[in-house]
Amino acid sequence: MKSLAFVIPIYNEAENIASLLDRLLSVADRLERLFALQVRLVFIDDGSADDSYDILKAQEFGGRPAQIVQFSRNFGKEAALSAGLEAAADADAVILMDADLQHPPEAALDFVTGWLEEGYDSVYSYKDQRRKSEGALRALMSWLFYRTINHGARFVIPRDAGDFRLLTQPVCHALLAMPENQRFMKGLYGWVGFRQKAIPFTPEPRMAGTSSFRPAQLFAMTLDALTSFTIAPLRFMALFGLIIACLSTLYGIFIVVERLLVGGNPAGIASVLTLISFFGGMQMLALGLLGEYVGKGVLEAKNRPSFIIRDRVTINADGAATGA
Ligand code: UDP
Ligand code: MG
Repeated sequence: MKSLAFVIPIYNEAENIASLLDRLLSVADRLERLFALQVRLVFIDDGSADDSYDILKAQEFGGRPAQIVQFSRNFGKEAALSAGLEAAADADAVILMDADLQHPPEAALDFVTGWLEEGYDSVYSYKDQRRKSEGALRALMSWLFYRTINHGARFVIPRDAGDFRLLTQPVCHALLAMPENQRFMKGLYGWVGFRQKAIPFTPEPRMAGTSSFRPAQLFAMTLDALTSFTIAPLRFMALFGLIIACLSTLYGIFIVVERLLVGGNPAGIASVLTLISFFGGMQMLALGLLGEYVGKGVLEAKNRPSFIIRDRVTINADGAATGA
């Protein structure tokens, strides 16, 4: 009998837990009947300020085994996912899923079909909603992001794919073996490779509460993801510098030749000011970018854990709870 673990990060989701379990447990029923799977649940409370953890501990999960882990503070969703993978490392497959029901639990049936019947190592979902709803600027940024991060790589990080996915044990172990603690999960899924299948899904609106990610945070995360995954921006900067250096050499020669043949002085102060401020800006940008990478190195060198566990409860199939 194969086992499947649902890994669900929880951050201030008290209002969503009841409806989540409602739908999740009926999906679990169907998975057990259709695929003879043994389903268990893993929840990571990422330092919630509400009583999510106590609510989870009081659940029965329809007699299924469950693990509930509580972080000592908020460490972020990526850390929660890593902790979840660790807790579920002995399951034959895991499904990563948000707690706010934006990821429809019913899609798990398609994931498992891809795994057990079609032999894929990992099945991921991508948003199929038409992108009209988002602004042109956001679409452009997103395009630029994926172009940059996939530049020259031997693997592709698919656009619109999220964390909602099934990973079999080998994939899960490969991810856990990654030594870095600044984790950009979406990138790592692609990096580890394996046979992957994509399934479209339409994200539902958030059940209750608000998304924890604000635009400023999104910008920070984007920069973070980019610099922790690729050095393409540094290459672009170097290439840009090279091109500018060549052009200015040519222009310098042109000025000298013009002066000797025609006489007169090159154009005035306005163009000089523009060029100085433009290249001043470019240099700051390049320096900032470089600093981003150096900072990453410092953070990794400190080798701090990506999360700290304050408390954990394991609920066995017979409903008995053991703390650890
Ligand atoms: N989450 C988390 N830690 C955080 C922020 C979010 O574990 O610091 C969880 C959250 O409880 C949810 C999932 O990550 O299960 C997605 O979060 P959210 O819905 O806020 O993000 P969005 O859907 O906007 O990407
Ligand atoms: Mg959400």
